[in-house]
Amino acid sequence: MKYDIVKNGREDALLSAASSELQEDIQPFEGKFPKAEQVAWLGCLPRPLLSWYDKEKRILPWRENTDPYRVWVSEIMLQQTRVEAVKEGYVRFLSVLPDLKSLAEAPEELLMKLWEGMGYYSRARNLQKAARIALATWGGLPASVEKLRSLPGIGDYTAGAVASIAFGIPAPAVDGNVLRVLARLLNSSRDVLEPAAKKEAEALLRPIIPKDRAGDFTQALMELGALICVPGSPRCEACPVSSLCLGFKAGTASGLPVKKSKKARRVEERTVFLLITPRGKVALEKRPSKGLLAGMWQLPNAEGRLSREQGCRLWEEKGFFVEQTQKLPRAVHIFSHIEWHMIGIALFLREEPPAEKADGDRRQSDAQRGWREEKKLRQSESATLVWASLEELRTEKALPAAFRAYRKAFEEIVEKGPAEDEPEQLMLPV
Ligand code: SF4
Repeated sequence: MKYDIVKNGREDALLSAASSELQEDIQPFEGKFPKAEQVAWLGCLPRPLLSWYDKEKRILPWRENTDPYRVWVSEIMLQQTRVEAVKEGYVRFLSVLPDLKSLAEAPEELLMKLWEGMGYYSRARNLQKAARIALATWGGLPASVEKLRSLPGIGDYTAGAVASIAFGIPAPAVDGNVLRVLARLLNSSRDVLEPAAKKEAEALLRPIIPKDRAGDFTQALMELGALICVPGSPRCEACPVSSLCLGFKAGTASGLPVKKSKKARRVEERTVFLLITPRGKVALEKRPSKGLLAGMWQLPNAEGRLSREQGCRLWEEKGFFVEQTQKLPRAVHIFSHIEWHMIGIALFLREEPPAEKADGDRRQSDAQRGWREEKKLRQSESATLVWASLEELRTEKALPAAFRAYRKAFEEIVEKGPAEDEPEQLMLPV
């Protein structure tokens, strides 16, 4: 029986002579992933995949050194951030925090600053918590899937990726990329958003991971999903495993994987304010300690789409004197469950806020520096603001990527002065 050939480890012969014959004999699989036939079929995958990976893999900074700390940091960064954004952030992060100890001892403000541009800042906090636990418990990162899995911020995928890449343990690492590749290879109609789908895919991969190249296999599968078997239209003509792919053969690949239970994201309209002082500082405030972007700095913003007049009134009611306004471009930021659709308004203040606001200390006199007495009570609403120069934004204060478009607008205003109003344009999601 052909499957016995695979199980007996003679994949070479099968691949070179009989993969097309196999495809003729096997009907597309339906339903759940882990079937003996599917495992047998996938047993043919490692050899051509690894051979392609050896020739075509991208040169990425985290592939130069498979030290467990480095692999772990890169995998956490890559969880929800594009490779291009991670490249720069990874090098910066490692240059300042090169090992578990330095990460465990880093001040939070520095940690947030180093994470800037990569989003999902709770990952950085979990990274630090996990570093402290790992150091205190094992003196380093453990060579065990279960122990890695017990650390904050490490789920099944990351535990499998770190275990295989850093320690050579033949553990599966299944994320959305891998689910997509498997669904296409097997022409499976399994809903990959169902919670059980990942476990089923792990069961499918576990027996076929080459014991001597577990880390490369993990990375090769991910690389295939990132470069060739991409979402939407896969590049089947360039695929090293197309001869094994049932989805390709059936012409169904571009419609896979099936995602039935995907919920639409909630859209929130927001108005973002650049409150700019005559000395070129911008107002920042802290977000609540729980929820979206917990504890991060943000540009002040309000729900809804406010006109410039409404925005002006809002801040004048809080005791600020607005000299001039400027409309800023629209921007969209996509979180996992929410989309922020933003408009922006720059408000150029007539007077410098009192010094105690810049220092975050409200107990000094409100009347100093000409701020009007009758506005004192209203100013209390603004007491949470701090004022940051462009240099402080660049070196100390981390602003989440959601505000990237408005941070850029602030940079342009500081460097070139207030501009003519922006034409209507929709900035790409950031
Ligand atoms: S042949 Fe096409 S669908 Fe199949 S694995 Fe390759 S890129 Fe993906």
